[in-house]
Amino acid sequence: MEWFAKIRSVVLDAVYPPFCVACGAHGIWWCDACQTGTERVLRDPCPKCLCTDDAHHPFACTGDLPFSGVVVAGFYHNPSLRHVIHALKYQGVTATEQSVEAWLRDIRMTRNLAFPWQTETELYIQPMPLADARERDRGFNQAEWVADRMRCAWAPQACMAHTLSRLPSAMPQASIEDKALRRHNIRQDFIATERVTHPVILVDDVITTGSTAAEAARALLRAGAPRVYAAALALGA
Ligand SMILES: [Zn+2]
Ligand SMILES: [Zn+2]
Repeated sequence: MEWFAKIRSVVLDAVYPPFCVACGAHGIWWCDACQTGTERVLRDPCPKCLCTDDAHHPFACTGDLPFSGVVVAGFYHNPSLRHVIHALKYQGVTATEQSVEAWLRDIRMTRNLAFPWQTETELYIQPMPLADARERDRGFNQAEWVADRMRCAWAPQACMAHTLSRLPSAMPQASIEDKALRRHNIRQDFIATERVTHPVILVDDVITTGSTAAEAARALLRAGAPRVYAAALALGA
């Protein structure tokens, strides 16, 4: 259906002329100036606690996140990147596709370290399933869109996987005030629908504490995944 997508984008461009979602400049959905000006994370966060301090070393870390590596492109506090994510998540603006891919490719070129999954030969990319019924009603999973961009720009050897399902929580997370209870509530939230025999990159738009992604990763590990990496467009504060 690629031709349909192309025609659709030509028609949409005619009806709604592109403007940068971050600065409003006309011509492109995320302009070059905004892309270039968006701070990149060139040092991978600690896979156990997501710390990005230079002095922090994973060997001395007591964090318990189960990832074999974590890669994020930028910071959520960056206004330009936040605009791209908000437009995607809340307005369904997917027309930033080419700009975001170009930005991710550029990050790949400027990183001076290999991706943690670089040596994996059989690799799968799993988007985080949507959180709740309201999101599912909206029918668009931004993590899926981000996963497509990341596969093209960061892991072309990988295949897309959809082996992870999100079970309805007993209670909505936000209504549970007790942290321990909330963690327990998340615990049974994910299930792998088949055995997983290959390493997986778990992709989301934003990763903040990593606790939700960690539960998803644990479901994949329980199902047999030898390693789970996490990747996100932005690292939240
Ligand atoms: Zn702009
Ligand atoms: Zn750490």
